[in-house]
Amino acid sequence: MKAESLRALYVVFFFLQTGWESLISLLNLRHVRVNSSRVPETFAGLVDEGTWKRSASYTRDRGSFSLIAGLVSSAFVLFMVLSGALGRIRDLVDAPSLNPRLRGILYIALISLIFRLLSLPFALYSQFVIEERHGFNKMTPRLFAADLVKGLLISGVLGFPLLWVLFLFMDAAGGLWWVYAFLFTAAFQLVMTLLYPLVVAPLFNTFTPLPEGSLKEKILRLAGLLEFKTRGIFVMDGSRRSRHSNAYFTGLGAAKRIVLFDTLLSSLPEEGVAAVLAHEIGHEKKRHLHRMLGLSLALMLAAFAVLAAARNWPPLYTAFGFSGPGDPALLVILSFCSGPFTFFLNPLLSSFSRAHEYEADAYAARAGCGAALGEALLTLGRDNLTNLSPHPWYSFYHYSHPTTAERLAALRRVGTEQAAL
Ligand SMILES: [Zn+2]
Repeated sequence: MKAESLRALYVVFFFLQTGWESLISLLNLRHVRVNSSRVPETFAGLVDEGTWKRSASYTRDRGSFSLIAGLVSSAFVLFMVLSGALGRIRDLVDAPSLNPRLRGILYIALISLIFRLLSLPFALYSQFVIEERHGFNKMTPRLFAADLVKGLLISGVLGFPLLWVLFLFMDAAGGLWWVYAFLFTAAFQLVMTLLYPLVVAPLFNTFTPLPEGSLKEKILRLAGLLEFKTRGIFVMDGSRRSRHSNAYFTGLGAAKRIVLFDTLLSSLPEEGVAAVLAHEIGHEKKRHLHRMLGLSLALMLAAFAVLAAARNWPPLYTAFGFSGPGDPALLVILSFCSGPFTFFLNPLLSSFSRAHEYEADAYAARAGCGAALGEALLTLGRDNLTNLSPHPWYSFYHYSHPTTAERLAALRRVGTEQAAL
């Protein structure tokens, strides 16, 4: 295949992705507008009309904003590929006096910095205009700037050694470099999964053990019943940044923990918090994090195999505007190709994640928390102005969690099964 045909193929896939994602965003926006005037049958008596309308307005604001932001960033990506800018920037940092590995790292850092700069105005608008307008923002410009700087420093501290070792393997490890590079990157990811909750997350938030009181007693009883170590239950000060509430399970081995946002504790009754906790314990008991990690390692191995196969193929570099081959260029090309050439796998990955959510919900229901979890999902949906009726194509493609209606229906099914026993 020639460079021109390869570039044409890229452009075709690029437009397929952008076209498809814009189409489902528009469908979703129309779906929300059509349904915004009246609470549908499914939620009659569960969501009041005022909340329904506010949620529709929030969804439309967010949806049209991310559609525009997505199109701007797509246009920029296409410009970078077709104009030859990727190659020219590389030539710019290719000072022969520098160590070649250092040059490579500098180039990749520069490209990612350009994209971060481009996304900055969008992030600011999202936080300080849209979130603010709908009453969710609690972030100050100062905290926003601090997060930004910390994020950049962390990327540098982690990215530098990772890229250095990667380039070292590519230079010196022979034909099987990609296997060694994969093993190293996989080990790096495992260590990060272990260290993230202990080292990185505390740089952004404060994590405190559950305070004494009736909630803690309730949770201790539930955790004892489900055989979960309560040392691993933490409250996070999510309210520093946003009124949105959430909970998640993270970490491996001794570092594994369940994190409840303080906003969640203030919006749910104790039974609701316990039900959310049972759901998170469900993720742990069913080893969902291990399965997701396994999947992401398999995808990583595939990516390294693709890199190895494409590395010595000159048309690839010409197609993306480089004057000649080079390992940093190869990594940048991979990151530009990863969206257009894999976006159709998205529904598969999201359905995998949704299956886990159903399993965790069913686990909570079998632990006797089904009704309270249903109530909690509705309260969280109302408080967070969640889009309770997305377009089915949109949720099928994007959603990592089933919709609230789907989860409530599944919880009812588990309830009937149990009643029949
Ligand atoms: Zn979950």
